[in-house]
Amino acid sequence: MPAFEPVLLARIAKPNSAKLETYRADGGYGALKKALSMTPVDVTTLVKDSVLRGRGGAGFPAGLKWTFLPKDHPGPIYLCVNADESEPGTFNNRILMELDPHQLIEGIAIACYAIKSEKAYLYLRYEYGRSYRVLDAAIKECYAAGLLGKNIMGSGFNLDIVLHRGAAAYICGEETGLIESLEGKRAWPRIKPPFPAIEGLFRKPTIVNNVETLCCVTHILNRGSEWFKSIGVPPDPNNPRDMGSYGPKLYCISGHVNKPGCVELPLGVTARELIDEHAGGVWKGRKAKAVVPGGISMGFLSADELDTPLDFNGPGKAGCLGLGTAAVVVVDDQTSMVDVLYNCCRFMSHESCGQCTPCREGTAWMTKILERIRAGHGKMEDLDTLTEVAGSMGIIPGTTICGLSDGAAWPVKNAIRKFRADFEEYISSGRRSVTSAQELMAG
Ligand code: NAD
Ligand code: SF4
Repeated sequence: MPAFEPVLLARIAKPNSAKLETYRADGGYGALKKALSMTPVDVTTLVKDSVLRGRGGAGFPAGLKWTFLPKDHPGPIYLCVNADESEPGTFNNRILMELDPHQLIEGIAIACYAIKSEKAYLYLRYEYGRSYRVLDAAIKECYAAGLLGKNIMGSGFNLDIVLHRGAAAYICGEETGLIESLEGKRAWPRIKPPFPAIEGLFRKPTIVNNVETLCCVTHILNRGSEWFKSIGVPPDPNNPRDMGSYGPKLYCISGHVNKPGCVELPLGVTARELIDEHAGGVWKGRKAKAVVPGGISMGFLSADELDTPLDFNGPGKAGCLGLGTAAVVVVDDQTSMVDVLYNCCRFMSHESCGQCTPCREGTAWMTKILERIRAGHGKMEDLDTLTEVAGSMGIIPGTTICGLSDGAAWPVKNAIRKFRADFEEYISSGRRSVTSAQELMAG
C-alpha cells in the first residue's frame, strides 16, 4: 500500500510554516476564496456531505451540527473554537495551532461564513503559551492583509476572531463550561438541551467546533467531499446507524513507547500498527499490557485487543467508550493497572466541577478506595464497591449534567472487568506503592 500523504500536517516541517506569506505561497486562503464564491448553504451542504465527524472526542457530524442553527435567525450567531485541549495524552491541536495556524484560521473563516457568524471566539487552553503567541501573530497578519475584519476579499463578509486564554481547568473544554467561562463565569456545564446550536454564548445560537475539525473544513473546501470520503472507513453495511469514519486523523501516541509523538493517518489504523510502525514499539523490549485508545475517559484495550481499528466504532466494539480524542497511551506489562487507574481517578476527582453529587462524591470515593489499596490496606470487596460506585455515575443513568462523570466511571468499570487479576494480586500481596512526587512530598 502506498504511504499515506499527510494532509493536516503537510506543511508543519516547512520553514516559517506559521507565517501568512508561506501559507499563501502554498495556496493558502484559496479555500476561503472558493467558499466566498458559494452560498453559505452550499458550503454547509458540502461539509455535511463529507460526513466530517467532530475531532474533539464525540464524533458528532460537524455539517449536521451547523444545520441545527435556527433558520433565519436575526443574529448574532457565534462560533466557539474549542482549543481547550486538556484530555491527558492529547496534543494534536497544539501542533496544528503552533505549526500551521493559518490552516485553522482559514477553517474558522469558512465555518463562520457557512453559519452566518461574524464573530468567532477561539478558547485556548491557558497552559498553551506558545500557541497563544503564534495564533495572536497569525490573527494580526490576517487583519493587516484584509483576511479578517470588514468586507473580506471584497465579498461583503465580515469576521472578527477573539483569542481568549482559558481558565486552566479540564471542565473548561466541556462546550457549555467553555461558554460559561467565556461569559466570565465559573465553568459549570449547563444542562442540555438546549444545545448551544439553539442557545449558547450570551444565550445566542452558537456552534462549538474543535481545532482539528475546522482544519479539516479547509481541505474539504479545497478538494471536495468525495476526496474526504475516499480516506478512512466506510459505514458498516450491517449497522444502518453507522455513518462511517472518514478522513485523516491525528493520533497522539505516548506512554511506554520508544518514540512518542503525533502522526497523521487515515481513520481506522489499528493500535498495533500505531505502536509498532509509528511509535517504535513498546519500550525496553517489553509487551503492552493495556492501551488507552483515545484519552483516559475511554477505558482500556487489553493486549489481545490491539488489532482494534481506531475509528469511531472500533474501540466501542472492544468495550471502550469510543475513539475519544485518539490519544493512544501505552501501558507496559511491568505496570500495575492499580497505579494506572489511581492516576485516572485522581485526575478526574481533581477536575470534577462538583455540581452533581454522583460525580463529585463518586470520583472522590473511587480515588480514596484506590489510595487505600495502594497503601496496602485493600480488601477484595473494594473491587465490587468500586464497580458499584462507578455504576451509579453518569449521564446514561441520568444523574449528572455532563460527560465528565461517565468519563471518570468508565475506566474504573473497564479496568476492573478486563484486568481484575492485577487488582486481586495487588490486594492479596499487601503491596504498597508510593510513586508520584506529590505523594512522596506528602509523606
Ligand atoms: P456530546 O455527544 O454530548 O456532543 C457532541 C456535540 O454534538 C456537541 O457539540 C453537542 O452540542 C452536539 N449535539 C449533540 N446532540 C445534539 C442535538 N440533538 N442537537 C444539537 N447539537 C447536538 O459530547 P460532548 O460532551 O460535547 O463531548 C464528549 C467528548 O469530549 C468525549 O468523548 C471526550 O473524548 C471528549 N473530550 C475531549 C477533550 C479534549 O481535550 N479534546 C477533553 C475532554 C473530553
Ligand atoms: Fe460537574 Fe461532574 Fe456534573 Fe459534569 S458531571 S457538571 S463535571 S459535577
